[in-house]
Amino acid sequence: MPVYVFIERDETKIRKTSYEAISYGAEIASIVGNQVVGVVLGSIDKAELEGLSKFGCHKVIHCPDPVLDQPMIRSYVSVLSELMEAEPAEFFITAQSALADPVAAMLAVRTGASVATNVTSVPDLENGCRVQRGIYTGKAFETVELKSEKKVISIRKNACGIKEYEINAEIVTSDLKPEEYSDVKITGADKVKGDILLSEAKIIVSGGRGMKGPENWGMIEELADTLGAAKGCSKPVSDANWRPHHEHVGQTGIKVSPDLYIAIGISGAIQHVAGVSASKFIVVINNDPEAPFFKVADYGMLGDAFQIVPRLIESIKKYK
Ligand SMILES: Cc1cc2nc3c(=O)[nH]c(=O)nc-3n(C[C@H](O)[C@H](O)[C@H](O)COP(=O)(O)OP(=O)(O)OC[C@H]3O[C@@H](n4cnc5c(N)ncnc54)[C@H](O)[C@@H]3O)c2cc1C
Repeated sequence: MPVYVFIERDETKIRKTSYEAISYGAEIASIVGNQVVGVVLGSIDKAELEGLSKFGCHKVIHCPDPVLDQPMIRSYVSVLSELMEAEPAEFFITAQSALADPVAAMLAVRTGASVATNVTSVPDLENGCRVQRGIYTGKAFETVELKSEKKVISIRKNACGIKEYEINAEIVTSDLKPEEYSDVKITGADKVKGDILLSEAKIIVSGGRGMKGPENWGMIEELADTLGAAKGCSKPVSDANWRPHHEHVGQTGIKVSPDLYIAIGISGAIQHVAGVSASKFIVVINNDPEAPFFKVADYGMLGDAFQIVPRLIESIKKYK
């Protein structure tokens, strides 16, 4: 039985987190002695499809029906469950996202599978099928056993890494059509402006109330541009309209998972940290040694941001 991986698109490009899901699926496949089948729904660049074998896919099923260009959960589930009926699988893997998590949950209900979301470990198959998952916004972990024959697992961003493989994937175009649902229709979409999406960014430079006012954001922008980073901010900053709301990071804003998160003049309140704890490295710049953010930082710079940040920009430019 293959290990299915749901490969999510952002328009016609594959999301970075889907590569993590494929690598995770490949690890399971190597344990159970099977192959990874990636599933792509909707329009996608040909080169992106062909590149999937590099991350561990043995076969890619592409369903290009134009209805699937719209990220509609029920349409997606109808196609995925049909695929799983045609060629049953024990494991179905997704990478956590606003779309993939409800797809995982609904698919599990439809196929009678056990489901675990926010998963951070490869299954321990010695005693049943146990995985670790993050709970309490990443502050604790629990181990759960998936007891059904079929298992749907949604992995947490940045928890499992990306590995490269040398495989020549077979690419199969499927003419499967989703069931039609008429109760919800996307009639338009306004994309957030900005070159780099926070949810996909590898580096994020984020500012808080310690920046004192919107007039001081020039150095946050310059640091972000120098690093090729996306810009974020704390909630009070967007509440005060110093920055647009789509930059608000945290429990009630966007949850991010970059390789590097640089927090400048942000205290590190629990609600902010909840949204950034999946970052690989956190660098904190703050003039208060008691700022809670230092407790979760990988690197800390204690001092005045107005002195540190310009010097940091200068050093990075010199280094470049
Ligand atoms: C239900 C709920 C949900 C929430 N959701 C979110 C959320 O999603 N995201 C979020 O961010 N917040 C959220 N909050 C708000 C959160 O509790 C904090 O109030 C907020 O994160 C604080 O923002 P801040 O760190 O920018 O400001 P402050 O708490 O005012 O901290 C400013 C920091 O800047 C430092 N500083 C000051 N001057 C300088 C300087 N010159 N150089 C360097 N450092 C300096 C200070 O030492 C301080 O640590 C939520 C709150 C609630 C109740």
